[in-house]
Amino acid sequence: IEPVPVRVLDLLEEVREEFKRSFEGEIRVEAPPEVWVRGDPNRLHQVLANLLANAIKAKAKTIHLKAFGLGERVLVRVEDDGEGIPKEHLPHLFERFYRVDKARDRERGGSGLGLAIVKAILEAHGGEVWVESEVGKGTAFSFSLPASGPPPPPP
Ligand code: ATP
Ligand code: MG
Repeated sequence: IEPVPVRVLDLLEEVREEFKRSFEGEIRVEAPPEVWVRGDPNRLHQVLANLLANAIKAKAKTIHLKAFGLGERVLVRVEDDGEGIPKEHLPHLFERFYRVDKARDRERGGSGLGLAIVKAILEAHGGEVWVESEVGKGTAFSFSLPASGPPPPPP
């Protein structure tokens, strides 16, 4: 698939719209309009949708979607105030089929593939992803992607 310039603010707002109906909490979006990345918009949407679905399963009340430009890179953060993840699990989260609490996670549905897919998509875009979390406080997934300029004006 041919990568195209994607405005990060639009991407975040589209995901917010998509989750509005199924999520009772608040989704806040904060991103400068001039920040762009290059990629497949559907795949990047899938990354954000997977991260939001996880935050909602973790009983978040508020989800923050933030992005900013950092020179040649763009940083995106998905922060939630859900139940958090015990430290010993953090190094394994992006492994296929890895789940923190087998019984609980099975009840909540899913297969443990979401974050492995997130990582694969981001790496295919020249990106990186990492996680910070504190039990009882919440979780933040961050990823970086190469920055892009806006699309060329139509002739
Ligand atoms: P799938 O995404 O395939 O439907 P899943 O959500 O269980 O299933 P992943 O998205 O890969 O799988 O997440 C792996 C595990 O990491 C989850 O089962 C959950 O325990 C934990 N996890 C992921 N994101 C969060 C989060 N924001 N807060 C708390 N725990 C999380
Ligand atoms: Mg998931």
